[in-house]
Amino acid sequence: ESVALAETVVAVLETIVATIDENVDELGRIDAIAGDGDHGIGMQRGSHAALAAGRAAAQAGAGAGTVLAQAADGWSDKAGGTSGALWGVILTAIAASLGDTGRPEAAAVAAGVAAGAKGVTDYGKAEIGDKTLVDALLPLTETLTARIAAGDDFLDAWQVAAASATTAAEATADLLPRMGRARTHGMNSVGTPDPGAISLALIATSVGALLAD
Ligand code: ADP
Ligand code: MG
Ligand code: MG
Repeated sequence: ESVALAETVVAVLETIVATIDENVDELGRIDAIAGDGDHGIGMQRGSHAALAAGRAAAQAGAGAGTVLAQAADGWSDKAGGTSGALWGVILTAIAASLGDTGRPEAAAVAAGVAAGAKGVTDYGKAEIGDKTLVDALLPLTETLTARIAAGDDFLDAWQVAAASATTAAEATADLLPRMGRARTHGMNSVGTPDPGAISLALIATSVGALLAD
């Protein structure tokens, strides 16, 4: 069972890589409107490094938590940029909730996602409405936690949570940025969503589709 779970983590990392590869140009394009245009490339570097590190750990026989923790370190080491550090924080927290043996409880994984969100806001100091990936991550976390508390199974809860992250990411188009590089370009970004929020929602959606297979 722990081996199967490590394989699931690798499959999740493969799905993240495929999603970012597919959207790399669009993420760069929207980051160029108010930022420096490197969000697609940064996410691509980070996710590919995460997959390589996760695969190496899985091949060495590591459990799911260690596979994801190694992937998180690979991501933050190689991505560069603000989002790379934040994805390292998110995945490290989720990794801790998985553990290396047995099957984690849905509520424990939801708590891991919540711990990741808290790590992101502690590290980056962004609040809801600042036009960052926090605008997608907090709805994801809150919906996931509420649905699991209400008795949904993990997959159903994750899919509803990913949908709320997508809605929230798209809604960042209306906001003025207050954090990160986008801050210095202010008005340029109104009408365009935050790239980090969009990539987070794309990843959450694709992971939901993978887990449903
Ligand atoms: P960089 O801004 O260093 O070039 P990226 O382009 O990869 O890095 O990532 C930009 C994204 O990072 C933004 O779209 C935003 O979602 C996210 N971001 C930037 N600063 C913060 C912050 N303080 N807290 C949370 N997310 C942030
Ligand atoms: Mg950038
Ligand atoms: Mg940059």
